[in-house]
Amino acid sequence: MDEEIKGESKGRNRFFPSVKWNFYFKFKMDDVILDMRLKTFRYGTEGGPLGFSEMKKAELVFVPTPGAGHYISAVEFAKRLIHTDDRFSVTLLHMRSSLHPHTDPYNTSLLASETHLRIIDLPPVDPPPSHLIHKSVEHYILLYFESFIPHVKDAITHLMSNPDSVPLAGLVLDFFCLPMIDVAKELGLPSYLYLTSGAGFLGLMLYLPTHHSQIGTEFEDSDPDLELRSFVNPVPVRVLPEAVSNKHGGYAAYIKVAQRFREARGIIVNTFSELEPYAVESFADGQTPPVYTVGPVLDLGGQAHSCSDRVDHGKIMGWLDAQPESSVVFLCFGSMGTFDAPQVREIALGLERSGHRFLWALRLLRLDGKLGGSSDGTELSDILPEGFLDRIGERGMICEWAPQMEALSHKSIGGFLSHCGWNSILESIWNSVPVATWPMYAEQQLNAFGLVKELGLAVEMRLDYRQIGGEVVMAEEIDGAIRCVMEHDSMVRKKVKEMGEMSRRAVMDGGSSSKSLGRLIADIMNHPQFPTNTVTN
Ligand code: UDP
Repeated sequence: MDEEIKGESKGRNRFFPSVKWNFYFKFKMDDVILDMRLKTFRYGTEGGPLGFSEMKKAELVFVPTPGAGHYISAVEFAKRLIHTDDRFSVTLLHMRSSLHPHTDPYNTSLLASETHLRIIDLPPVDPPPSHLIHKSVEHYILLYFESFIPHVKDAITHLMSNPDSVPLAGLVLDFFCLPMIDVAKELGLPSYLYLTSGAGFLGLMLYLPTHHSQIGTEFEDSDPDLELRSFVNPVPVRVLPEAVSNKHGGYAAYIKVAQRFREARGIIVNTFSELEPYAVESFADGQTPPVYTVGPVLDLGGQAHSCSDRVDHGKIMGWLDAQPESSVVFLCFGSMGTFDAPQVREIALGLERSGHRFLWALRLLRLDGKLGGSSDGTELSDILPEGFLDRIGERGMICEWAPQMEALSHKSIGGFLSHCGWNSILESIWNSVPVATWPMYAEQQLNAFGLVKELGLAVEMRLDYRQIGGEVVMAEEIDGAIRCVMEHDSMVRKKVKEMGEMSRRAVMDGGSSSKSLGRLIADIMNHPQFPTNTVTN
C-alpha cells in the first residue's frame, strides 16, 4: 500500500497542482473487490478548498475487454478524455481473463501516472469450456465477458450508492461488452460504444441486423458481393470477418452484438474523418446514433508495452539504431497472429530472398493448439530453414513481441508486413510507414480491403487470407510483397505520408477529431439523465 501511495505522489498531476490527499484502499463488498483510489480532499496552496464548487463534474465507467488491441486503445481514450477536460474522471472496470494475463503491470503504471483514473478489479469468472474457442473465438470471447455482467452491475451500483462519489455520466463499453447496455439501462445510465475498429467495419455492424432479418443465417463465401454503406466498392464476402460465416456460434455472437449498436447513445470510433470520409458521412442518416471520430487514439508514450516483460526493448531498439534509414521491413501480426512451422519457413525464405533487413515479431502456433504464446519447447532454429540464422547474421532480428509503435516511429523502418489489425493500421499511418497486407483474423480482411481498394494506402499481398484456413503463403509471394512495400518512391508511400500528416492534424486543437471529441463531451455533459450533477464539495 505504501508503494502505491508513493507511486501516486510521484505521478503527474497536471490538473490539481495543489497539495492533495489520496486514500487508497481495497475492500470486499457483495463479492466485488473494490480497489479504489479516492481523491476526497484537495487543498489549494493557500490552504483553503479549491474553488470548483460550481464546476459540473462527471465520472465515466469504462468497460474494456483485455487484449492489446482493445484494452490499450480504450485506456488511451480514457486518458485523452481526462487530459482534455478536467471535469472528467474515469473508473475502469478490469475484467481479468486467462486469454490476456498481461494487464497488471500496465494497470499499476496507469495508477501511478493518472490521477483521474481508478481501476476496479472485478472478481474472476470461470472461462467458458475450452473446446468452444476452437469453434469460434468471437463466440468464446462474448460468452466469457457476458459472465462478468453481474459483477459489472454490482460495481456500478456500489459506485452510485456512494453519496460522496462524482455522479456517473455513463458507461463506455467495448464491442464485446455491448450486452452490458442492459445494466446501464437498468441503472438509468447512457451507454457509449468505444469501437477500436474503423468506420468501414462500423458500416458492416450496422448492416448485420438487416441481413439477419432478411436472410436469417450465416454468410456463404459464394454469396454475391455486398453493398455496404461504408464502402464505395462492393465488398466480397471473403473479406468479411470469418465470424459472420461461422456456424458454430460466431455468426450468432456477431448478430447479438450488432443488434445492440443502435441502442448506444453514441458510437465513438478510433478513426479520423479524413481517413474514411465516405464511411463517416454515410452514418448521418438520422437512424444511426451520433458517431464521434476521435482518432487516432494511440499509445504514443509506449506506456503499455514498456510494462511488458515480453519486450526485449533495449536490444530491439539498439539493433534498429544501427540500421540505415528506411532499410528495415517490419513484420508483426498483432496479439494473436501465430504461425505453424511450414509457414514460418516460407516467411524466412521470403525474407532471405528479398535481401532486405528485417525485424520480425514471431509467435509460433503452440503444439497444444492454444492461441498465442510462444513455442512450447520447440526451438526456433529447428523450425527455420537450415542455416538461416547464420546466413542472416546481423541483417535481421527475430523477437517474440516488438514495441511496435516505437519501432514504426524509428527512422530505419521502411515498410510493414502487417496483419492489418486496426491499431496497427493507425500506427503505421501515424508514422507514415506503408503496409503490405496479410490479414489473419477478426475484421482484418475488411481493413485490408478498405486500405487497398478504397483508399490506395497499402500494398496488396493478401486480402482474404484466414489464419484458421491453414493455407501456407509461399516465399515467392512474401518476397514480392516485401520488395513492393519497401520501394522508395511508390505512390502508396506518398499517400501514406500525406495521410500520416492528416492524422496528426486531426488530433490537434481545431482538428477534426478534436472537434468531434468536443461534441462528445458536450453530449455527455448535457445528457438529460445527467442534469443535476453539480458537485458541491
Ligand atoms: N503490438 C505490439 N507488439 C507486438 C504485437 C502487437 O506492440 O508484437 C501492439 C500493436 O502496436 C497494437 C496492438 O498490439 O497497438 C495490436 O492491436 P491491433 O488492433 O493491431 O491487432 P490485434 O492484436 O487486436 O489483432
